[in-house]
Amino acid sequence: MSQFDELLAAVPTGLWIDGSPVAAVRGDTFAVHDPATGTVLTEVADATAEDALRALDTASRAQREWAATAPRERAEILRAAWQLVTDRAEDFALLMTLEMGKTLAESRGEVAYGAEFLRWFSEEAPRIQGRYTTAPSGNGRILVTKAPVGPCLAITPWNFPLAMGTRKIGPALAAGCTMLVKPASETPLTMLLLARVFADAGLPAGVLSVLPTSDAAAVSGPLLADPRLRKVTFTGSTGVGKTLLEQSAGQVLRTSMELGGNAPFVVFDDADVDAAVEGAMAAKMRNGGEACTAANRLIVANAVREEFTAKLTDRIAALTVGPGYRDGSDIGPLINEKQRTSVTDLVDDAVAAGARIRTGGGPVDGPGWFYRPTVLDNVPADARIVAEEIFGPVAAITGFDTEDEAVAAANGTEFGLAAYIYTRSLDRSLRVADALEAGMVGVNRGVISDPAAPFGGVKQSGLGSEGGTEGIEEYLETKYVALEL
Ligand code: NAD
Repeated sequence: MSQFDELLAAVPTGLWIDGSPVAAVRGDTFAVHDPATGTVLTEVADATAEDALRALDTASRAQREWAATAPRERAEILRAAWQLVTDRAEDFALLMTLEMGKTLAESRGEVAYGAEFLRWFSEEAPRIQGRYTTAPSGNGRILVTKAPVGPCLAITPWNFPLAMGTRKIGPALAAGCTMLVKPASETPLTMLLLARVFADAGLPAGVLSVLPTSDAAAVSGPLLADPRLRKVTFTGSTGVGKTLLEQSAGQVLRTSMELGGNAPFVVFDDADVDAAVEGAMAAKMRNGGEACTAANRLIVANAVREEFTAKLTDRIAALTVGPGYRDGSDIGPLINEKQRTSVTDLVDDAVAAGARIRTGGGPVDGPGWFYRPTVLDNVPADARIVAEEIFGPVAAITGFDTEDEAVAAANGTEFGLAAYIYTRSLDRSLRVADALEAGMVGVNRGVISDPAAPFGGVKQSGLGSEGGTEGIEEYLETKYVALEL
């Protein structure tokens, strides 16, 4: 038995409902693929509406008792889950590389990052605060308490199969909410392994369910229409987020939306160009470019543009493309054929509009969904690649002359998730960070995600924050008790 087979044999492949893996009511399964080869890794149970409602039955039954569990006990379970994920880091990393394609180094990074949400929120569970104060009139007292929202549905994407789950599950469980997770159909295995880890950590049956499905809308629709569900938290594309917001109106659900991005990466003429190149490698090439925080538009001062572009091109041209589990690979495959076609089309459109290919440009022949790491210079402002999320290893560079021009270009999008700026001036850092319409701004750094910081977007990039002290608030209701003494 190969190392892969041994790992896959240890991953539950049923729906995770009421504390154990079960077959779907109709008995159907669907295939999970290795994007580096296109071959089938395994089959998992395929949830339907009936299964979803069965899971909601267990979540709503478990809700009252879980909410009444001592915060310290909830904290201990989360902490134990953090420990178990950390102990099994290599299993989680290899599993993510197998089903998603990213390199093992990237997967190991995600395991550490994803697990940290469990530890962070274990520390937040005992710190849920209320307040007690005298009314300004002096005639009464104001008591404010926090209560868990209730059963939640989490819908997660394939690009960070562990972390996009844990940053929802961590705060939900810490707050005292039960949760159903519908992982992306491309990457359900990581979440199923996490469910087993939570059971091993002592999480009561029914508190966490995992519902892989080949038909996301068929599973989420009936859940969103059921009055027992109280919240939906989603990470994915803006289009699907809008649909879920519409559907959430029926039961007036609490919503958290982490949607698409189109991050500007602005390099000013007073930047340390080598540091900016280093930052751009991280902001662009992390996760093979398949990150919502990925630098989508490199907006570079014309005074340093050629130096920056030449140095970045050297770095990107030196990247080795290959299966994520092969030693020496820097960039794995894209998730599937559809994603690769989308990247190919964006690059072709930019080139037709006048962009110049400095390196790469085009898919890699052979099995798997590989795309060559690419640098495009002279990208016209009206090319589709400037307006749309690339989600691939393609750096698109445009130039600017003045700070006002750079800020206007950076803000010229309906998205507002992450933004990056490189400058040696403190004044300029703070001025531009203020002016950018983004939920998160990196100053002289290309990686901003941190479980201790609030992650979230403005404009069409979303609603709410994940992580930080803010993250748990998304899973808490505020209750006011008016007291006459
Ligand atoms: P997607 O929106 O297609 O899918 C995300 C999830 O939604 C998957 O689980 C999918 O099965 C489910 N889904 C799809 N259609 C649905 C429907 N009609 N009803 C209910 N669920 C449905 O996005 P994707 O291709 O998986 O991920 C890429 C997108 O996610 C990018 O746009 C990226 O920017 C975004 N993303 C955002 C963040 C963030 O935090 N803001 C993080 C990662 C990815």
